Formats: sequence, structure tokens, C-alpha cells
Amino acid sequence: MKLNDTARFSTVCIHAGQEPDPSTGAITVPIYQTSTYVQEGLGQHKGFEYGRTQNPTRMALEANVAAIEGGIAGFVFASGMAAIDTLLTRLESGDHLVVSDNTYGGTFRLFERVRRKFGLDFSYVDTSRHDLIDAAIIARTKYLFIETPTNPMLRITDLRAASDLAHQRNVRVIVDNTFASPYIQRPLDFGADIVVHSTTKFLNGHSDSVGGIIVLRHQDDAEWMKFVQNAAGAILGPMDSWLVLRGTKTLPIRMERTNANAQTLAEYLASHSRVERVIYPGLPDHPHHTLAKRQMRGFGGLISFDVGSVDRAREVLGRFRLMSLAESLGGVETLISHPAIMTHASVPPERRAAIGITEGMIRISVGIEDVEDLREDLEQALR
Ligand SMILES: *Cc1c(COP(=O)(O)O)cnc(C)c1O
Repeated sequence: MKLNDTARFSTVCIHAGQEPDPSTGAITVPIYQTSTYVQEGLGQHKGFEYGRTQNPTRMALEANVAAIEGGIAGFVFASGMAAIDTLLTRLESGDHLVVSDNTYGGTFRLFERVRRKFGLDFSYVDTSRHDLIDAAIIARTKYLFIETPTNPMLRITDLRAASDLAHQRNVRVIVDNTFASPYIQRPLDFGADIVVHSTTKFLNGHSDSVGGIIVLRHQDDAEWMKFVQNAAGAILGPMDSWLVLRGTKTLPIRMERTNANAQTLAEYLASHSRVERVIYPGLPDHPHHTLAKRQMRGFGGLISFDVGSVDRAREVLGRFRLMSLAESLGGVETLISHPAIMTHASVPPERRAAIGITEGMIRISVGIEDVEDLREDLEQALR
């Protein structure tokens, strides 16, 4: 199966990187659960030497997601955090990054508690404001690290404008695209240099694997990341690679349903008398609604809303029947969480307050169940 260059998004999701198995014709890439490969003679092999260095299932997933994001190469890792950490190996001690201030809690923890020790320096700004990005870039800045939409405030950064600005200052742009998924936005199309994902979320989509991927557009980045993937060895195993590969085939139809369900529930919550505030980029009162409409295909599956206090949040969260109280997002099942106590517990309280994460805030990762069942569950929990 050779995909032609004009193949459209859904076709790419299903077919890119996936040749029928050469020995049997199996239509799905097999799980090559092997640590090594028998060589025909000294220095004679089929391009496969050792499981950390090459694995056909993993390489099929890498080619698949690289094509989905429109990059030249992709490399998968044992988790999203391992993927993000690998990106930092491109830097030297003394280098500086400008980072979205409302970035994923685990990213903040990695940067501040682990990598700062090795001489990297980070400034956190609201990257939806270009004046703030511009002011934060200094001579030592190597990367602008953007998350859009952010978690859980769902602020949107204009990827084209931010990339243009960074490039004028000789800074490369990394986008953590986990929250949107490439169905909703492809950062490389807007000028970004590197995309990173926790595949744990929408790409896998079935809440049954933890993993990460980086997708590159420059040859120099691709060569280094390939080297580090093998040298440091935080690879994704064959079984998990296969699960994500299964997930990406249905990404477009899952995201269409996710978008539709989330829009319906956000509008329902916005009209509810016991909800103080709803944050969803698809609502006209969202501060970046116009930008989101231009940059994103649909507004995604995350909704944040405020029920007023931590006590009320606790009460509401205890009543859900269909939605499950859990961290993570992007699966077929709807999950609810309390950012201040759960996902953002590692962010200091004063930083949480500055970003706007309140004690009464609840986040929903909308799944693809029947939206009427989801709405009824919200209704009985809020009553
Ligand atoms: C989950 C997540 C990560 C970390 O990924 P893991 O697979 O949990 O290591 C990074 N960024 C964002 C935006 C995430 O949602």
C-alpha cells in the first residue's frame, strides 16, 4: 500500500506507515514482541539488530503519526513526559526556554524540579499574549514551548503569530498538541518546528496505554532525537505501539463525536443556574473564541466549569454515575476531575491562583458516549 501525496487526513490516519506484513500479508502490523533479531552472518542483517534500536511495530507507529502531523520523522517514548524530557537533551546548560504559564503540571515539575538542576532556565508567560512572549525572549532562549489549549484554563495561543515572532528571534517552537490532537490542529502547518504528544490521551484514545511521541520538521532535530531515543533508551514497547496504532485509525471519527458532544455539554452547562462559569473555546464568550474558530477544527473535548467552592465541587463530583472520577483525558469514556486537588496538585497554590485555577473548578474530558446520557448525568449531579 503506497499512500499517494494527495491522500486526505482520514486516509492517512488509517494507512500511513502500514504496509501489509511482508511474510504473511497480515493487514494490521503485527506486535513484534522480540528483543533481538537473528543475523545471517557477521555484519549481515535485515536492518534490525536489537529491540531498543529498531522495532517494526514501533517504527510503523512513528511513521504513522509523523504523517498525521505532517512532519519528516517521529519518535515514540515510554510516556509523554519521557518525550518532553528527550526534547530538552537538544539544549546545553545555560540555555533558556519560554513556556506557556498554564502548562501541564508534570511538565512544570520536570522543568523546575529536575532540569533546572542541570542548568536549564525557564520563564513562564501567558503565550496567548505576544507582547509577553516578546518580552520573555532573551539571548539565551532556544525554545518557545507552547501548550494550546492549556489545561484547564483552555487559553489559546495563535500558533502562526507565535511561530513568526519566535523565528524572527532565532528561537524554535515546540507545541504540546496533546489537548487538541492533530485532527483539531496541526502545529507544523502554522510554522511550529516540533510537535510533542502524550499518546496516552487522544491518539491512543482507549485509556489502555501510556506513551509519548515527538514529531520533527528539521533534519538536524530528527537525527539528534533518533540518536537519543536509542542512547537514553526510553522507548515505547511493541504492545503499546500497536495499541496506539490501533487508536489513530479512528482518530477522525472519535474527534468529530468528541467535538459535538463537548459543544452540546458546554452549552448546557452555560445555561445551568448552579454553574458559575464555563470555560470552553466553542462558547462565544470565550476570550479566544474567534482565534479558536480560525485555528482549530472544532473546539476539542475539554470543558472546565466552576461550581463556586471546594465543598460544592466535592458534593457534585461524588454524585456522577456515568462519568468517572479520574486523571487523564482523551479516551472514549468521559472523565471528570478536580484540577486543584488532582492534576495540578504539584503546582504551588499561589501559582494556581495566578493562573485562575479555582477550588470550585471541575474539568470534564468528554468521551464519545451518547450525549443525552452524559447530559442527564450532569443534570442529576448538579441538582
Ligand atoms: C498527559 C500529558 C502529558 C504527559 O504525558 P504522560 O503520557 O502522562 O507522561 C504532557 N502534556 C500534556 C498536555 C498532557 O495532557
